[in-house]
Amino acid sequence: MSKMTPQDYMERESRYGAHNYHPLPVVLERGEGVYLWDVEGKRYYDFLSAYSAVNQGHCHPKIIKAMCEQAQKLTLTSRAFYNNVLGEFEEYVTKFFGYDKVLPMNTGAEADETALKLCRRWAYRVKGIKDGEAKIIVCENNFHGRTITVISMSTDPDSYGGFGPYTPGFIKIPYNDIPALEKALQDPNVAGFLVEPIQGEAGVFVPDEGYLKKAYDLCKKHNVLFIADEVQTGIARTGKMLACDHEGVRPDILILGKAISGGAMPVSCVLADDEIMLTIKPGEHGSTFGGNPLAGKVAIAALEVVKEEKLAENAERLGKVFREEMRNIKSEIIQLVRGKGLLNAVVIRNKPGKTAWDVCLAMAEKGVLAKPTHGNIIRFAPPLVITEEQLREAIGLIKDAFKQFE
Ligand code: PLP
Repeated sequence: MSKMTPQDYMERESRYGAHNYHPLPVVLERGEGVYLWDVEGKRYYDFLSAYSAVNQGHCHPKIIKAMCEQAQKLTLTSRAFYNNVLGEFEEYVTKFFGYDKVLPMNTGAEADETALKLCRRWAYRVKGIKDGEAKIIVCENNFHGRTITVISMSTDPDSYGGFGPYTPGFIKIPYNDIPALEKALQDPNVAGFLVEPIQGEAGVFVPDEGYLKKAYDLCKKHNVLFIADEVQTGIARTGKMLACDHEGVRPDILILGKAISGGAMPVSCVLADDEIMLTIKPGEHGSTFGGNPLAGKVAIAALEVVKEEKLAENAERLGKVFREEMRNIKSEIIQLVRGKGLLNAVVIRNKPGKTAWDVCLAMAEKGVLAKPTHGNIIRFAPPLVITEEQLREAIGLIKDAFKQFE
């Protein structure tokens, strides 16, 4: 068979795969650290990091070593039996984040579902809400994944449209709006408030300073669980281990995913204290793959890398460099630069032939990969192992790409 061209790869995906994504026309085959290579050997800086799953960089040697060693011993037994790794992971992750217990799952959406179930259970068994009446407050423009219950919380028609009927029991309020939260909390059947500390998918919306702390305090006042979805913001991405750490908030339920495996495999989990976690009894929740020994070893290695390589500190320092440099670009199509740590976005004033998509194509041409969200926002989220020298080189390429639109 003759060698496949990039076009061949793209056509094959389109021919045999569902059309639920619209990728940039780049076909990747290898990754190392902050770099990706396409099938023709061209090198790129990765400024998406698989939506912040690859915070530790592609194929981090320590994570891959842990993965290969465990893969040759035992990958999956299901939770029908004990295994010798799960407890090690559970002890490590609970001590790492400071919670009594962890419930391991696989994807972010599953971890969110788990948190919702825990919150409802706690409402009935601890808070004393009448069975079936619990409500959970969520924010407009949220993104928590793609399952039916999770899209029932969404206000984005692309996410929920045409997939009804929806799961009831959610109150939707504007993000970054304390009075709206205060009002919604008057309902005695409210059991939880689910929030992203920064709304990533919505376009890196950073709430006002103090929002999370005020929201947390209000939740405490009303005996309502503060549930943080840190699937995208957690694990050092925003310059602290958790984005909630910026305001000294300890969520009652903490949801993690993505970078907890460094992108090596799907691992997610929910952390909470006994009063909440022990409301779910044997047989009442679970997953075949959740808590498998391969995931356990990979996650321990991935979290060790974050600490050993001081990735939160790196994200904090280089995030400032990135925003400053981006704000220095004189371009009529740049409307706004915002973000925290190395989770940043540039809002584009879309014009014909000068859209966020066009900018992303031009950046790919120069050797930087990023993807637009909501038509006019480009998220910039490189692996947190990036050095200042690499960042400055990438910024140079990004600037070159913007020059094309003058
Ligand atoms: N929660 C947040 C905040 C996310 O950003 C995402 C994915 O982008 C999810 C949940 C869903 O994670 P997954 O795609 O692993 O289900």
